[in-house]
Amino acid sequence: MTDDRRTELATNLARVEDRISAACAKAGRPRDEVTLIVVTKTYPASDVRLLAELGVRQVAENRDQEAAPKAAECTDLPLTWHFVGQLQTNKVRSVASYAGIVQSVDRARLVTALSKEAVRAGRELGCLIQVALDVESGAARGSTGDRGGVAPDGVPALAEAIAGAEGLRLDGVMTVAPLAGPYAGRQLAAFERLMEISTDLRATHPAANMVSAGMSADLEDAVAAGATHVRVGTAVLGVRPRLG
Ligand SMILES: *Cc1c(COP(=O)(O)O)cnc(C)c1O
Repeated sequence: MTDDRRTELATNLARVEDRISAACAKAGRPRDEVTLIVVTKTYPASDVRLLAELGVRQVAENRDQEAAPKAAECTDLPLTWHFVGQLQTNKVRSVASYAGIVQSVDRARLVTALSKEAVRAGRELGCLIQVALDVESGAARGSTGDRGGVAPDGVPALAEAIAGAEGLRLDGVMTVAPLAGPYAGRQLAAFERLMEISTDLRATHPAANMVSAGMSADLEDAVAAGATHVRVGTAVLGVRPRLG
């Protein structure tokens, strides 16, 4: 059973690796510019362990209730945990105990809470600003509903807040291809917009050079646009058994 699963994961990983390599070649980018993050949500710690044995070093989760016990089962593995889901402030203490990078920072209140808990835990937390591309302006969240994100015009202020917060490190930007608005169904254009936002951010914060974009269905568009990190779940682990 474990052997079958290992073979399945190895096969899927090889396929995803081929896709990333091909996309890099097509874009004229060196393969090592793009890091694969495997999104392990809804899958058990045993899969995380197999992935680590197969060489995966970056994993992502979107719900603390699920991620916290899973990370606790895997503390012996050389993994960086990314948190990619909507984050409520009452979960921040827990997330700050295992996450290396929080990709879904989208409001000042969250920055304050993350800073406090990072300091408390004696850890430095990497932060990506999650950008909602279904709205160009306005502090309010977009019609992405529970997908989160700050409108592009809110990025500079949030960047200053993170850069000035103790215990936090501003690493870059992240987006999820929007389902509504001008970029709905236009992944490449959405990711190119994210790259513009990243370029603007790096003008004032040159070290914040991570660009996290692209999932199983659209990683090629993300690589073409210039993403440095792709977040791939189903293409590695299979179609999720339940919504997540
Ligand atoms: C689930 C998830 C992914 C991975 O999606 P797949 O389509 O399974 O590859 C990427 N990013 C975020 C924020 C997610 O929640």
